[in-house]
Amino acid sequence: MAGVNDFAVRRRRMVQDQIAARGIRDQRLLAVMQEIPRHLFMDQALWRRAYEDHPLPIGGGQTISQPFIVALMSDALGLTGTEKVLEIGTGSGYQTSILAKLADWVFSLERLPELSRKAQLVLEELKIFNVNLIVGDGTKGWPAEAPYDAIMVTAGAPVMPRPLVEQLAEGGRLVVPVGQRGVQTLLRLTRRGDKVIEEDLGGCRFVDLIGEYGW
Ligand code: SAH
Repeated sequence: MAGVNDFAVRRRRMVQDQIAARGIRDQRLLAVMQEIPRHLFMDQALWRRAYEDHPLPIGGGQTISQPFIVALMSDALGLTGTEKVLEIGTGSGYQTSILAKLADWVFSLERLPELSRKAQLVLEELKIFNVNLIVGDGTKGWPAEAPYDAIMVTAGAPVMPRPLVEQLAEGGRLVVPVGQRGVQTLLRLTRRGDKVIEEDLGGCRFVDLIGEYGW
């Protein structure tokens, strides 16, 4: 059984070889990914693989995203610590924990109650309390707390879910994988007045976003 120090060493290698080496420069983000014990967000049987360069299963047919994808999407939101963030697809809660460390507050929606419940336990164990986990269809967003400075969708959408764009604050950023089942383009949308600027951040592969404005 690997000890706490072994995990810290594996995390350092993960941050250096998979994230910094691929061009992520935000020092706050790199420090947070060094700090958060990613293995705790998966079953103990997977702990020895927790820092590998790919997604891993978390139950319910879902996955915890590859570390680099977590870094890339977090980086794309340009968080400074003051933001109200909406996340769609809590899953394991790993990405949620990173957002919570980088922003002021995170609202995170998950459609599978069992995953949300497990994520809540890990976040509490890590004493991360600036998070509200909500069970429901995130394709509709969470109008009660809108607008958001940043929105992240961690499941693949067939088309851009309109309610999410509408819930963006002025200057707000939305990062979302859009495309076919099993292969999408990661998009960043930025609201500037009446306009929405769209940027292509590259190819990616996510599980389905299932809901009213999803699959
Ligand atoms: N960020 C997560 C990735 C989880 S995979 C992590 O790091 O672990 C994507 C998650 O999106 C799955 O848990 C899936 O159940 C959830 N999901 C799919 N459609 C959804 C919807 N409409 N609303 C909320 N969650 C959804």
